[in-house]
Amino acid sequence: VKRMLNPVRDLAGMIGQSSDMAASAARILDVLDLEEEQGGSGTLPPVEGAVAIEDVTFAYGADGPEVLHGITLRAEPGQHIGIVGTSGAGKSTLMQLLVRLYTPTSGTVRIDGHDLTDMSSSSVRSQVLLVTQEAQLFDGTVAENILFGRPEATEEQVVEAARAVGAYEVISDLRNGFQTRVGERGSRLSVGERQIIALARAMLADPRVIVLDEAISSVDPDRQRIVFAAIRRLLEGRTAIVVAHWLTLVEDLDQVFVLEDGRIVESGRPVELLTAGGRLTELCQAQEGRTHKNTTGKDVNHV
Ligand code: ADP
Ligand code: MG
Repeated sequence: VKRMLNPVRDLAGMIGQSSDMAASAARILDVLDLEEEQGGSGTLPPVEGAVAIEDVTFAYGADGPEVLHGITLRAEPGQHIGIVGTSGAGKSTLMQLLVRLYTPTSGTVRIDGHDLTDMSSSSVRSQVLLVTQEAQLFDGTVAENILFGRPEATEEQVVEAARAVGAYEVISDLRNGFQTRVGERGSRLSVGERQIIALARAMLADPRVIVLDEAISSVDPDRQRIVFAAIRRLLEGRTAIVVAHWLTLVEDLDQVFVLEDGRIVESGRPVELLTAGGRLTELCQAQEGRTHKNTTGKDVNHV
């Protein structure tokens, strides 16, 4: 509480002085430059965030098997859509098509009516952000990792973004606060801490559309509550396409699509699907079952 009343001292103490944010930003921009430009030559204009996937089929490579078969779904601006399915169903592939990392073999992905095939990946990335929560931190400080979301941001904005997703307390509890080095791929942090920092980074980036490929990782219950709260705050006011494994998240969504072997086999409002007791119910029960078995309190990845 005291900290909140003294934001200036707070900033100096937590991030400032010992770090040179300009140098950090330059380093981050170098990393971004190394990312290969993909996609078309067009620039996605500012969007409201209407997402339309129309009869999309996809195979990795010309001779590869089709992993998505005729997927169609829509999200109106501000709507939250869930994709639920077992491992290998094609969820992550679909998420990557949404951010223009791949081009559909047939069919189209549109944002506000603009076919992403024609757009450069960087222009899409600035408005449609993929958050995977796993292995996306680089070996720098917590502050640098959040700053990666928007390298030109100020220290104050970094702290603000952390506060906005409820990450501030978690970060303050780390050995050196915002100056804590996270290690290669965030290896010095727990899964929960990595997730929360990834969400703070996304908050700072402030995209219109969030594509969240939520990891199936069981985090201790306290951290899990913080992660879910952070996700909720991040999604507020944005369009979101979320790969969801947890009932807690699924229940909040406007519409859910169950994906199996690259096909949508069930869709509708979560309450209705859960009441009807079909595939979504089975998948959620399976996930809850795995969670209860895993009571060691350690971070464990199921996939
Ligand atoms: P999910 O996220 O639902 O677990 P994925 O989208 O990762 O499913 O995978 C769907 C299918 O595509 C799987 O059969 C997987 O083996 C295959 N696949 C995923 N990534 C690649 C890749 N980079 N190259 C070739 N095949 C891939
Ligand atoms: Mg996946």
